[in-house]
Amino acid sequence: MADATAPLKCVIIGAGPAGYTAAVYAARAGLEPVLFTGKEPGGQLMITTDVENYPGYPEGVMGPQMMEDFRKQAERFGTEVRYELITKVDFTGPVHKLWTESDQVIEAHSVIISTGASAKWLGIESENRLKNKGVSACAVCDGFFFRGQEVVVVGAGDTAAEEASYLAKLCPKVHLLVRRDEMRASKIMQERVMKTPNIEIHWNTETKEILGDDQVTGVRVYNNKTGAEQDLPATGFFVAIGHKPNTDVFQGWLDMDETGYLITIPGSAKTKIPGVFASGDAQDKVYRQAVTAAGTGCMAALDAERYLVEHGIA
Ligand code: NDP
Repeated sequence: MADATAPLKCVIIGAGPAGYTAAVYAARAGLEPVLFTGKEPGGQLMITTDVENYPGYPEGVMGPQMMEDFRKQAERFGTEVRYELITKVDFTGPVHKLWTESDQVIEAHSVIISTGASAKWLGIESENRLKNKGVSACAVCDGFFFRGQEVVVVGAGDTAAEEASYLAKLCPKVHLLVRRDEMRASKIMQERVMKTPNIEIHWNTETKEILGDDQVTGVRVYNNKTGAEQDLPATGFFVAIGHKPNTDVFQGWLDMDETGYLITIPGSAKTKIPGVFASGDAQDKVYRQAVTAAGTGCMAALDAERYLVEHGIA
């Protein structure tokens, strides 16, 4: 029986594929992990419908169902799931401190961060109303459902370029809405987009409204130089204007890039602080898939286990 006042061996922050996978591994290694779910248990998969690209589900699975399966698997091996948000940390160490939103102080020998990232949205009413009804923030997840159909992508960075290129393989026509007269994406990605005959770039163009009652039927756009409006026929609307990693709480403690993604030591899940590990989308701005998040969650748990063994704690 664990001593209730002793520091926990392993705390996991975040309840997406990375956090739950870390929990499965940590629990099976006897680390008695406690997982704090944060405000969005299940993470970004809770706003996805069918997941068809996660190995092991030949018929596909609904995102929320998959996250329930992950949680049950983590609990089966003894993970304690707490539905609370961590609002403050102190990584002075060697025992790390975390504060919950109810101001409880948690002490832990190792911490695995899997707080994920959140897609940025335009913030217009029709976008919110039609989410999962043709509005998506992930072409790789949802593009397949729009094959053979006309779609719109918003954004001008590498993500938008990648999503437009991906969709152009499935869809006869992809409209790319760029709000300025140039793209931010890397040169090679821009060239790829511009060379793809079925991608039409609409420069200086922004979204006024996504049309449709229960499903997207079109997009009303306007030219921000001339004010001219146009309705584009489309059944899919992909927002690709960036993601924000949920890492604000770690500011000042851990190394991050300029947009807040946590930096880990290459080939590991280690951060610069001994005993603190990072996994999933909080440290990955390139791949951002459930399966890659799960993979790095596994790495984080294995690194945490090794750390605890080396320090005579596990
Ligand atoms: P970025 O921040 O690079 O780009 C966001 C784009 O969205 C910008 O072009 C911006 O326009 C546009 N945008 C923002 N808000 C709005 C809005 N309200 N309406 C219309 N357009 C808007 O994000 P990304 O996700 O593209 O990339 C993030 C990082 O990840 C980058 O460093 C990128 O290089 C990297 N990445 C790398 C990949 C790879 O190497 N394969 C793949 C994907 C991402 P504006 O330019 O006018 O500000």
